Amino acid sequence: MAFEPVIGIEVHAQLKTNTKLFCGCPTTFGQATNSHVCPVCLGLPGALPVLNRQTVLFAIRAGLALNCQIQPQSVFARKNYFYPDLPKGYQISQFDLPLCTGGYVDIVVDGQPKRIGVTRIHMEEDAGKLLHQGAEAISGATHSLVDLNRACTPLIEIVSEPDIRSAQEAKIYVETLKQILEHIGVCDGNLEEGSLRADANVSIRPVGQDAFGTKTEVKNLNSFRSIERAVIYEIKRQEEALGRGEAIVQQTRHYDDTTQKTRAMRSKEEAHDYRYFPDPDLLPLVVTPQQIEEVRAQLPELPQARRKRYRDLGLGEHDCETLLNDLARLAYFDACVAVKGEVAPKLIANWILGEMTAVYKEGKHGFEGSPIIPERFVAFLLLIQTDKISGKIGKELLPKLIGSTQSPSELVASLGVSQMTDTSALDGIIADILAANPDVIEKVKSGKTNAADFLIGQVMKQTRGQAKPDLVRELIHQKIQSL
Ligand SMILES: [Zn+2]
Repeated sequence: MAFEPVIGIEVHAQLKTNTKLFCGCPTTFGQATNSHVCPVCLGLPGALPVLNRQTVLFAIRAGLALNCQIQPQSVFARKNYFYPDLPKGYQISQFDLPLCTGGYVDIVVDGQPKRIGVTRIHMEEDAGKLLHQGAEAISGATHSLVDLNRACTPLIEIVSEPDIRSAQEAKIYVETLKQILEHIGVCDGNLEEGSLRADANVSIRPVGQDAFGTKTEVKNLNSFRSIERAVIYEIKRQEEALGRGEAIVQQTRHYDDTTQKTRAMRSKEEAHDYRYFPDPDLLPLVVTPQQIEEVRAQLPELPQARRKRYRDLGLGEHDCETLLNDLARLAYFDACVAVKGEVAPKLIANWILGEMTAVYKEGKHGFEGSPIIPERFVAFLLLIQTDKISGKIGKELLPKLIGSTQSPSELVASLGVSQMTDTSALDGIIADILAANPDVIEKVKSGKTNAADFLIGQVMKQTRGQAKPDLVRELIHQKIQSL
């Protein structure tokens, strides 16, 4: 029997606020354990939560970017459970009345557009972290320590509709979501540090059947690769179980990256197990239409719009995607385009993604606070575009632009590296090289035109890269034909 996978994804994204969701403790990652805590996030009796305004603004921004309706009134609820990393004994989340509902994300799978529904986005606090001692994971550990720095860090949970039909779509959906959240500046999208975490709800059903099969929830997906692999494994596991006549058990499963398998963690809990109720310490959250419009007005350009703008500028798909995945470099590209004058955007992109990235990496420079300002970089590219210098000389020149007070054209003049476009100056050099290589000339004459590359290389070497390769090629072929 042929089965069709049905997948929904829950993404937890940590919001880039300076302080926590209900207290003033900093959210900085990687600090000394239990150094960023206070009575509120430690859950001490009598401490009262105060909602962080920035969290709400970020959550609304995410909701608008994902085409959701922003609810005028939403409610914080207590999700009750016990775990050592949750000192209050409950997590403050949103339950039946979330902030955002009914949105969507457009993804592209093998060149085809597909729309994935977003059921809801709600705000909630993160738990602390357990540090297992004596082993990598909880299994095999002798004991565990608790770090509450992360407790009460603001998250949004983005719940998709069960619209995803393959592991590939699941991966692309999370990649697309990450890109949007990064572009709108609400999440740094760092999967390794846990700023973005995904759980996948996976079920299968016979092709043609409308009713959903029993689902399992796969947790611990902390890379795009593990999302794809875990879903592939889980689909196969369920197909094999049904093939053997077994029923799928609704449960939460843990994905192990080393074995690339999922294993049962606990039987899947239902919402009513958590005894949700409105948090009596927090008033319902009221958002006015005016506040929503203020956030909408500040919404930056979304990746989809940017992609279209870059294509219109003549950039290829690969260049677009490479730019879109590095915000600092992308901002630099935009700044260059803003002052580009006659310089082709494609040339700007080529040099930023190629040589400049290499030079900056080597010199440990960043595109944020770039040592070469966009105006200077564009002036440099204009020299290449107008054949004042060759691309080869450009590569040598680029690092020299850093720390120099001379303009790019002054630098070219002082180094004496402007491109030789004077035919008469090249004629003599070419004549000498042809005279020294009669065998190569014979090869070219007998139809092996590629052999001329050697001669061109010799001319380039002799002119220290200053000759224009296209011109040299033309002159050499002319000369050989006239011999
Ligand atoms: Zn605190």
